[in-house]
Amino acid sequence: WDMFVLAFVERLFRPTFKKDDFVLGKKLGEGAFGVVYRVSLAEKPGLKEGDLVLKKATEYGAVEIWMNERVRRACASSCADFMYGFLENSSKKGGEYWLVWRFEGEATLQDLMLSKEFPYNVEKMILGKIQDEPKGIARENRIIQTIMGQLLFALDGLHSTGIVHRDIKPQNIIFSEGSCTFKIIDLGAAADLRVGINYIPKEFLLDPRYAAPEQYIMSTQTPSAPSAPVATALSPVLWQLNLPDRFDIYSTGLIYLQMAFPSLRTDSGLIQFNRQLKRCGYDLIEWRKTVEPRASTELRKGFELLDLDGGIGWELLTSMIRYKARKRTSAKAALAHPYFDKEGLLALSVMQ
Ligand code: ADP
Ligand code: MG
Repeated sequence: WDMFVLAFVERLFRPTFKKDDFVLGKKLGEGAFGVVYRVSLAEKPGLKEGDLVLKKATEYGAVEIWMNERVRRACASSCADFMYGFLENSSKKGGEYWLVWRFEGEATLQDLMLSKEFPYNVEKMILGKIQDEPKGIARENRIIQTIMGQLLFALDGLHSTGIVHRDIKPQNIIFSEGSCTFKIIDLGAAADLRVGINYIPKEFLLDPRYAAPEQYIMSTQTPSAPSAPVATALSPVLWQLNLPDRFDIYSTGLIYLQMAFPSLRTDSGLIQFNRQLKRCGYDLIEWRKTVEPRASTELRKGFELLDLDGGIGWELLTSMIRYKARKRTSAKAALAHPYFDKEGLLALSVMQ
C-alpha cells in the first residue's frame, strides 16, 4: 500500500502533457514501431521549457510506457529519465502512444564508437580524467573498463528489477550529459518477467547483429504466458531456470568486443565476426585460435588490450560470450569480477 500511495503521489506531481504542448524538432530515429523526435515545449503558463525527447509509437508503445514507469520507480539511474506517456487519440484511428523523456545528450555509444577518437572522446566526457596512465593501450583499456562498468551497473539495475532489455546495442546506449554516465534507452522490446508483461517472446523485434544464439528468451518448454497473478508467483522460478537476463549479457559482451577491436565496429565487421564465431561453435577461444595467427596489426592490438593485467579482460569477455546462457556470467557477477578491481577505476566513483 505504501508503495502504491507513493507511486500515486509521485505521479500526481509530475507534469502531464498533451499533443499541443510539443514543438517538434529534429528527428532522432525511426523504426518499424515508432518515430523519435527531439522536442521543446510550447510556451504556456505553468509549463517550464525543457529539452525533451518524444517517441510516437504504435501498439507496442503501451508496453514501453509500462517498462519506463517501472524503471522510474525501481532503478531510475539505469535508463533515460522518463517523464510521461499517454495515448494520443486525436489523429489516427486507434491512436498512437506518445512517450516523453528528458533529452539526455547528443551522443549514443554508437556515435562515440564510430569516431576515430574513440575511446579518448569518451574520456573527455566522463568526470575525473585518468591521470596516471600515458596515452596508449593501457589507458584505452581503462576508459573501456569504465564504460563496461557503467553498462553493467545499469544492466544489473534492470535485471534486479526483473526486466530483460533484449535490444542492448550501442545505438540504445546514450551518454547522459547531466550525470556523465551511460544510460540504457529503448525499452520497446523489453520483457518484465515478474508480472508477465510482454511475456511471449517477440523474436521479430530482436536485432540479429546483437542477439544471443538462443534468440528466444524463454525456452520453448516454458508454458504459455500465465495471467499476471500467476506469473508473479511463478516467475522467480522461471527466471532461475531460463536465466533470460543472460541474453543481454551476450549482447553486452559483443559491445565489449567492438570496443576492443575497431574493425568490428562497422556493421559488416560485426556480421563477419558473427559468421566466424558461429563456425567456431560460438567458442570465443576457438575463434581466437583461428584468427590470431593471421591477424592484422589492428586485430592484434585488440588482443593485446584484452590480455593486459594477466588477461583479466579476455577472461571477462569469454565469460559473457558463451553459447549456453547458463554458462554466461550475470551482470552482478561481472561487476564483482577482478577486471573491475583495479584501484582508481573511474566507473564507480562516477556513479551516484
Ligand atoms: P527506436 O530505436 O525505436 O527508433 P530509441 O528509443 O532507440 O527508438 O530512440 C531513437 C534514437 O533517439 C536513439 O538512438 C537516440 O539517438 C535518440 N534518443 C532516444 N532517447 C533519447 C534521450 N532520452 N535523450 C537523447 N537522445 C535520445
Ligand atoms: Mg533504438
